Amino acid sequence: MTELAIPALSLVALVGISGSGKSTFARKNFAATQVLSSDAFRAMVADDENDQSASTAAFESLHFVAGKRLAAGRLTVVDATNVQEHARAGLVAVARAHDVLPTAIVLDVPEEECWARTQARPDRHFDRRVLTRQSRDLRRTIKSLAREGFRKVHVLRGVDEIESATIAYERLF
Ligand code: ATP
Ligand code: MG
Repeated sequence: MTELAIPALSLVALVGISGSGKSTFARKNFAATQVLSSDAFRAMVADDENDQSASTAAFESLHFVAGKRLAAGRLTVVDATNVQEHARAGLVAVARAHDVLPTAIVLDVPEEECWARTQARPDRHFDRRVLTRQSRDLRRTIKSLAREGFRKVHVLRGVDEIESATIAYERLF
């Protein structure tokens, strides 16, 4: 069992390519109301969780709600791929605006495995190249997270580490 130490009040960014198991991990380790997912926000603003053209509106809405939660002192988990620096910068900014520590949990699962899972999913239809691009972004991401302002970075490599991980809340005061 791996305990992932997380400040009791933090903005937790899940980071991983599509199919790496972010939503599954979030369901298992956090309350449903703590998790803000980009899919849910795309659905809210555009009736379609896969509508990438709705991403800007979806993330604006997600950041707004995250800010309200953090202002009220509520742990907030962001379930989105977060493999692009500009996406993470938005989260770091929301966390800083509320004096909250941004934390990252990286789910690093081999692209082959994610692709096999994706093909078995009825709710995902995208080209393999999308995953390859996300994987390339993820490699850069892992190196730069601490520099970007994430105070704690947990990298879980492979299914076993992901499945055995539990969250341990740290109270800072
Ligand atoms: P997306 O970015 O597309 O939302 P995701 O990272 O949220 O993807 P999930 O939806 O959690 O990924 O998982 C993708 C698929 O892989 C699902 O069908 C899920 O049941 C399966 N899956 C998740 N975790 C595991 C696991 N540890 N072992 C086997 N299958 C898994
Ligand atoms: Mg998901």
